[in-house]
Amino acid sequence: MVGPAGGRLTVWPAAVRSRYGAAVPGAPDHRQLRIAVIGAGMAGILSAIKLLEDGYDDFTVYEKADRIGGTWRENTYPGLACDVPSHLYSYSFALNPGWSRRFSPGPEIQRYFERVVDDHELDDRIRLGDEVTSLELRDGQWHLETAAGHRDVVDAVIAATGVLHHPRYPDIEGLDDFAGACFHTARWDHSVDIDGARVGMIGTGSTAIQITGAIAERVGKLVLFQRTAQWVLQAENPAYSDEELLHFRDEPETIAAMHHDLSQAFGIFANAVVDADSPEIKMIEQACLDNLEQNVHDPELRERLRPSYRAACKRLVVSPDFYDAIQHPNAELVTERIEKVEPGGVRTADGRLHELDVLVLATGFHADAFMRPMHIVGRDGVTLADAWDPRPTAYMSIAIPEFPNLFMLNGPNGPVGNFSLIEVAELQFGYIRQLLEQLRSGGIAEVSATRAATEAQDAARVEAAQQTIWVTGCRSWYLDDRGVPAVWPWSFDRFRKEMAAPDLAAYELRPR
Ligand SMILES: Cc1cc2nc3c(=O)[nH]c(=O)nc-3n(C[C@H](O)[C@H](O)[C@H](O)COP(=O)(O)OP(=O)(O)OC[C@H]3O[C@@H](n4cnc5c(N)ncnc54)[C@H](O)[C@@H]3O)c2cc1C
Repeated sequence: MVGPAGGRLTVWPAAVRSRYGAAVPGAPDHRQLRIAVIGAGMAGILSAIKLLEDGYDDFTVYEKADRIGGTWRENTYPGLACDVPSHLYSYSFALNPGWSRRFSPGPEIQRYFERVVDDHELDDRIRLGDEVTSLELRDGQWHLETAAGHRDVVDAVIAATGVLHHPRYPDIEGLDDFAGACFHTARWDHSVDIDGARVGMIGTGSTAIQITGAIAERVGKLVLFQRTAQWVLQAENPAYSDEELLHFRDEPETIAAMHHDLSQAFGIFANAVVDADSPEIKMIEQACLDNLEQNVHDPELRERLRPSYRAACKRLVVSPDFYDAIQHPNAELVTERIEKVEPGGVRTADGRLHELDVLVLATGFHADAFMRPMHIVGRDGVTLADAWDPRPTAYMSIAIPEFPNLFMLNGPNGPVGNFSLIEVAELQFGYIRQLLEQLRSGGIAEVSATRAATEAQDAARVEAAQQTIWVTGCRSWYLDDRGVPAVWPWSFDRFRKEMAAPDLAAYELRPR
């Protein structure tokens, strides 16, 4: 049965409307659902809070690590901070008057998520150290298995397994032969003393730029191996004064207004990147250019730092201090191609050996992994591996045909870029909760995106992507194996609108 009248669910029938109550007086077929949330990062924590708010009491959050936090637990490198303002990078329902800076440091963000978990008394809901390895659909329910051998049977699954989660290691000859310490930025080895050491870093994404700013003065030498120059938007990162912090605490409407205003402002940016000719994109490019021209003094270095593609084609780097740091006497920018790694350091194509004690791999993540490597089997034995061959896709980046009652947060082809993924996840959860309500009170046993809707959206997405800044001539992790941006190619306003209510014509709803 396809969705009733194919209509958008903007208003729930009074009989099935429930904000808090598990009991919905008069609702036909009301049932209690058992739900599994996979992952206790920002999106999994959000899910738990919202499920409780909606009266779902029977759910478990599975987290493979021994602490919550996801990204902010795993990344502990020097200089880690959010690069959208903290007062935007916060849950809308848990604004934080105590952010210390405009872009707060990573450990503070981790503490924020821990506090939110405490405040909402979620501890008992989260199974730490329990990795979900398998999900199989049998008789309309998901049979879940964890690495520890725990089993669960649930009516619905919310996969909050992250986007930038699986480190990507470079394929460079001799990497394993390096005699010094070598680690990925998401696996920073704090037992290694970098003070006074000769440190090499491969990569120039946002992470490498943050690290450069934080360590250039501390190390004996920093060699930054650059394959691609980055556009860098200068953004100061002042600490909030005691006075400001008091004001935020005593006048909560101030931070609510900041959250709102920042959301509007970043919405403009998100709208702009999908139109390569937009005036906003040109303004951003000019601001980056001014930063380069005014703050890099050596003309030869300036040219090597000048990107040959358009600003925001790759994820824009936002930094208060990168150009200062790379001009520090300890720092060297190397633009020669890396030929191989040797026990003593990195040899570049010009034959030079850059002698190093520590090699940092700032080489990013497998941004297309999503729920994988979980083994997932949907209807009729279809595996996720089959469904996502050759590449991952999902209707509205949330639902996959043949995988009913399985919903993703920050799934494939969603909005990713220089804005708050918290806001994205909140909007997505608003959509998912309406699909859950179909299961709880709508007499529906299984809800899954139709193949037709998914394919039509995918075709439209690929076409729309041609207008975006991401296809204007750069390599980036936004692009899939065909060079098509695997991200939301429409405006953020459209995303908000789509997330407001599911179009049930795009779903197959199997009755109970
Ligand atoms: C260095 C860095 C800086 C960033 N800065 C920003 C920023 O400034 N602004 C912004 O909006 N975004 C930023 N991001 C993106 C960031 O990932 C998101 O903002 C957000 O933290 C993602 O939350 P999540 O819950 O979706 O995923 P994650 O934080 O990745 O959490 C996923 C969780 O799922 C768990 N998990 C995965 N698979 C399983 C399994 N099979 N079983 C059990 N548990 C599992 C993981 O252990 C993890 O805890 C940054 C990312 C990185 C890497």
